[in-house]
Amino acid sequence: MLKKPTSAYVHIPFCTQICYYCDFSKVFIKNQPVDAYLQALIREFERYDIKQLRTLYIGGGTPTAITAQQLDYLLTNLTKNLDLSVLEEFTIEANPGDLTEDKIEVLKQSAVNRVSLGVQTFNDKQLKQIGRSHNEAQIYDTIASLKEAGFDNISIDLIYALPGQTMSDVKENVAKALALDIPHLSLYSLILEHHTVFMNKMRRGKLNLPQEDLEAEMFDYIITELEKNGFEHYEISNFTKPGFESRHNLMYWDNAEYYGVGAGASGYIAGVRYRNQGPIQHYLKAVSEGNARLSEEVLTKEEMMEEELFLGLRKKSGVSIAKFEERFGISFEERYGQVVAELRQQGLLVPDDEMIRMTKKGLFLGDTVAEKFII
Ligand code: SF4
Repeated sequence: MLKKPTSAYVHIPFCTQICYYCDFSKVFIKNQPVDAYLQALIREFERYDIKQLRTLYIGGGTPTAITAQQLDYLLTNLTKNLDLSVLEEFTIEANPGDLTEDKIEVLKQSAVNRVSLGVQTFNDKQLKQIGRSHNEAQIYDTIASLKEAGFDNISIDLIYALPGQTMSDVKENVAKALALDIPHLSLYSLILEHHTVFMNKMRRGKLNLPQEDLEAEMFDYIITELEKNGFEHYEISNFTKPGFESRHNLMYWDNAEYYGVGAGASGYIAGVRYRNQGPIQHYLKAVSEGNARLSEEVLTKEEMMEEELFLGLRKKSGVSIAKFEERFGISFEERYGQVVAELRQQGLLVPDDEMIRMTKKGLFLGDTVAEKFII
């Protein structure tokens, strides 16, 4: 029998604001059938008959955009059939300002043990420029309330290389992030996605983004400063104090299988990558008809190998050659020896006989290096 996945991703597609850079699957929450959506989501979740999970992750959208009562319904129903003794990590994404006292109380009473906050920047002016509705003061309030409620596993997301951002802005953000005294940080450079307000501005020449050199300097500063302060750069965009790596995200980079539940969610089960119906009404209809999926793709061995490398290389620890050979029954040297030699020569991969892993320079270039393994 195939082993069942031990992780699940649950998507809440509602937001109380629409940010200018965002291309995630989401809608403005006003007038949306939130209750019906949550019921459908639980129905989809229950069809998998999940009894044990090691990691559970609720992302969005903004999961905390729903009311405290709806949040309670969601958390209670997701965990009611689970053996909580094996659930190691249960994360919920939240936005500063959304977490009212009653919602924090619901979180406290639930099995959630990790909160990931979309801070993005501490600069009020820049928060407005990117379309976020919270402000700096709310970031501190939210973190203080979470800590008071007993949450010690808190992560924040920050974006750098924002329009008009200078090196001193980045330094200020990093200093403020460190002062929060939390164990995990994710830092992403701004990526321009299609169909976003930012992409339109860019096309009209109205988006003043930092040059690539400056962006590289920013990333370099971030890594150095965070490492100096006891954080490990364990994945291209992620930094952790010892023991606080995101187990759920490590599961993705380990190329493991997982359930994906909710509108627009992706999942990977029994060698099949699938994507659910995106628009809420389509999703509701699909669930009521017994199948939430929009598309399915059975991966070939080639694709599985590519994914294993592409995802695994994101981690500082890299990909184990022995495990790879065992899993796919091929000689790594025969297949990738030349690519590896070239990348090592360019200083992008570390010379290591057991693990394929990136150098600092490689991690900075990220996916461009990993793409070399896609033949
Ligand atoms: S960035 Fe987050 S909060 Fe902003 S629109 Fe996208 S999903 Fe919603």
